[in-house]
Amino acid sequence: MKVLVINCGSSSLKYQLINMENEASLATGLVERIAIEGSKLTQKVDGREKYVLTVPMKNHKEAISHVINTLLDDVQGVIKSSDEISAVGHRVVHGGEKYSASVIITDEVMKDLEEFSQLAPLHNPPNIIGINACKELMPNTPMVAVFDTAFHQTMPEKAFLYGLPYELYKENHIRKYGFHGTSHKYVSQRAAEILGEDIKGLKLVTCHLGNGSSVAAVNGGISVDTSMGFTPLEGLLMGTRCGDIDPAIIPYLMDVKGYSYEEVNNIMNKKSGVLGLSGVSSDFRDIEDAAAEGNERAKLALDVFHYRVKKYIGYFMAAMNGVDAIIFTAGLGENAAETREEIIADMEWFGIKMDKEKNKVRGQERIVSTDDSKVKIIIIPTNEELMIARDTLTLLK
Ligand code: ADP
Repeated sequence: MKVLVINCGSSSLKYQLINMENEASLATGLVERIAIEGSKLTQKVDGREKYVLTVPMKNHKEAISHVINTLLDDVQGVIKSSDEISAVGHRVVHGGEKYSASVIITDEVMKDLEEFSQLAPLHNPPNIIGINACKELMPNTPMVAVFDTAFHQTMPEKAFLYGLPYELYKENHIRKYGFHGTSHKYVSQRAAEILGEDIKGLKLVTCHLGNGSSVAAVNGGISVDTSMGFTPLEGLLMGTRCGDIDPAIIPYLMDVKGYSYEEVNNIMNKKSGVLGLSGVSSDFRDIEDAAAEGNERAKLALDVFHYRVKKYIGYFMAAMNGVDAIIFTAGLGENAAETREEIIADMEWFGIKMDKEKNKVRGQERIVSTDDSKVKIIIIPTNEELMIARDTLTLLK
């Protein structure tokens, strides 16, 4: 049985075809510049050269049709008939308060997704477009929605409520939702396997550090708090997002600088974070290179980023009355040894000690704490696609 996993953004689309018999990835791919000049599909299959198809793709339906054709292609393909795709699992960013688990996509689910678009205007609409395109092209294939917010629906009220009038929560659904749930869930389950312990007895802090970053407190296998909030803007400093700021800065900027609401929103989402502080780039590799060459603002941006992650680890250790393991995942968490080292530095008082030699590794699953560290530090490459495929399979059964 094979499951196609689709993660659809506004102009890009990631996909992966997974054989669920052995959970092996058969093909992974990326379509970029959908509906923009220079549309391109890149597919990778183990043991083969990377395949690139440059062809205009006017919309998501055309993009998905090229994905299916590539998977079926005599030379580049990995399947003989589209019937081999038993189901499609879609990553959906926002599932509101209604969805605390993945669901088979029905007309009712589609209506709900449209409603949640108000809560995630940048993310849910492209997810919906992707689902509709797949439904048109594969009308008889079951589809499943796996939500980024679902894993965090277990947060208690004290963690998800803001100090705003309660009516704004009840009437306008303003609360912390949290995101990256599929990744936090995957790495926490994997951590329990690595440690050989029942997840029910584990307190974990999971750090998903990439372009978008978030930290979660996972107690007994369920999320009890996380750094992202009503939107993915809250919490850590990110590539271009500011993370936590005093909300009073917004009206102040509108008053003093005469910025419109759109301008402030654009600054907070697109011009802040490590890009805004460093003035170099939103890509951490560029900033690390600049810092190594002596760029002071690049160093400062990294300092602020590390400090913010450290602070959240502290919050969540306090929230759970301790921690058994701290997990690093995603682009930066998996690959950036120095970032991990800086975040973990000076936490010996808590019994958290990193083995700097073991930590010199990229993209590998590994315990990198010292043998006498009370708290384990573990690098776990995330695998959101596999998690989505597993949920899809479970629902089909
Ligand atoms: P996204 O949120 O887009 O999925 P990723 O999880 O792929 O992001 O993370 C991308 C980030 O990880 C980029 O800022 C990139 O610079 C950073 N990154 C990837 N590899 C390394 C590395 N070896 N050293 C430092 N940073 C890295």
